[in-house]
Amino acid sequence: MQLEFTPYILPFVVSLVTTIGLALYALRHYNPAARVFVLVMTSLSIWTFCYIMELSSVTLQAKIMWVQIKYLGSTPGPILWFVFSLYMTNNQHLLKGPLKTVMVAAVLTTWAVVFTHGLHNWMWTDIQLKPGFPETQSGHGFYFWIYAATLYLSILGSVVVYANFYRTTSRFFKQQALWLLLGGFIPLAGRMTEDVLGMDLIPKVDEVIFFFLFSGIFFALALFRYGALKLVPIAHHLVVKNINAAIVVLDLMGRIVDLNPYAQRILGSEEQTGSIGKTPQEVLGDSLKLATFDQVPQELSLVRGEQESCFSVQYSPIREQRGQVAGHVLVLFDITERKQAEMQLAHIARTDALTQVTNRRYFYELAEPEFQRVKGSDGQLGVVMLDVDYFKKINDTYGHQIGDEVLKHVAKVCKGSLRQTDLFARYGGEEFICLVSGASAEDTQSIAEKLRQALADTPLELPEQKISITASLGVAVLHNAAKSLDELIGKADEALYTSKKEGRNRVTLSTVLGTAEIYT
Ligand code: GH3
Ligand code: MG
Ligand code: MG
Repeated sequence: MQLEFTPYILPFVVSLVTTIGLALYALRHYNPAARVFVLVMTSLSIWTFCYIMELSSVTLQAKIMWVQIKYLGSTPGPILWFVFSLYMTNNQHLLKGPLKTVMVAAVLTTWAVVFTHGLHNWMWTDIQLKPGFPETQSGHGFYFWIYAATLYLSILGSVVVYANFYRTTSRFFKQQALWLLLGGFIPLAGRMTEDVLGMDLIPKVDEVIFFFLFSGIFFALALFRYGALKLVPIAHHLVVKNINAAIVVLDLMGRIVDLNPYAQRILGSEEQTGSIGKTPQEVLGDSLKLATFDQVPQELSLVRGEQESCFSVQYSPIREQRGQVAGHVLVLFDITERKQAEMQLAHIARTDALTQVTNRRYFYELAEPEFQRVKGSDGQLGVVMLDVDYFKKINDTYGHQIGDEVLKHVAKVCKGSLRQTDLFARYGGEEFICLVSGASAEDTQSIAEKLRQALADTPLELPEQKISITASLGVAVLHNAAKSLDELIGKADEALYTSKKEGRNRVTLSTVLGTAEIYT
């Protein structure tokens, strides 16, 4: 074959070296996007090489042969270009289904038409040489326009994919996305200047191939500077996008700069709230149960309608290379379920299993600070101790299980005749205790009387029998003489003992704690 050097090939040689270099570079990376990139660069290299051969060939016959072989690269090239954009933006799932079939069919059909061209002239009406032009000149057959449409659509498709990626990616990847977008757009721009605007940028040759050089450079920038084909940024992007935690980037003024989709679900989408540029407090408004971000809380809860969600908060500074703080990252993990489990456990730990009222331990936990508070403020506080009368006999007569039912019944009846705010607890066995804040001796005594009456009036009704229940009660009120809660309870217990002694089913007020003063 006769070849002749022509300076027209020079830009294409540079382009070819670039595409081959990029293919070799990408070969060293073992991820699906890199593999597609190798295929894209290989197609472009075949395309460019054949074009160089077409320009360098002397005879029309040889040129036509290279034009045909060129389609081995130029047909799959743009389609792979589009496929690559899907892989780069993590949209490869779109390839499943009919799209893949259509793509393969398009490539095979074009090849079939190109290599059988002599039989039907569907691609070119005639191919000839024009003196002074290194390229063959040809009239376009109908199939050429189908081919051109596929090429346009593929590259346009990739531009749309990159543009969408650019729009939606986190700001850390925006610049990388921009290089990809530019790289994808350049061949299209080149085609359009020639086909639409009729401008021939490099006369006498097909500059579109040359534009692949620029695309190559832009892709290389995305590759080398941002490691586009390395897994890390893609993984970062995926993690930030899909993690079950809200990630919010704040500037030094505490305003939101970026937020991931999970954060958008919590804060409301950017369209709804325009959250970028606002502080989290401004966006969350009343639903945030937290004062400021200056004192960063460990946990916070958000109330939306009926639902309350709890989050653990991590607040970390973002430092520049010199160590200066440039902003903060706020990471919120949803711990609602854990909180609910904790609350359930806490409830179990505070509740008496049989009667479902407060247990003795939790009674002390609540009563002790209340005692100190009232004592410190010279207020009033009453204690009622209650013990079921002849309970042992109930057990002995009806059995332990019915005894349990009686205890549940006693708790229920007592709770029912107390206010929600009164602290009522099972003190032990068949003994119950009640702490009433702000109650005088008379108040407490009348509460105790109410309890006694309620129990006496409400026997436990079982299918077979009715069990009458009475209880003896002792009342004591806080007075300067009571130094501790235990002393106060002890006084109530003594009064209870008096009630028992005097015949049961009655209330006795402790006389020890300065009752004289109370009644004066
Ligand atoms: P009194 O009128 O003097 O108070 O007599 P009593 O029989 O009620 O008092 P005593 O303290 O002699 O008996 C209390 C009984 O309560 C003894 C114990 O077996 C029973 N008891 C304690 N806890 C439970 C419980 O959880 N379930 C049942 N069924 N019985 C219990
Ligand atoms: Mg007892
Ligand atoms: Mg008893």
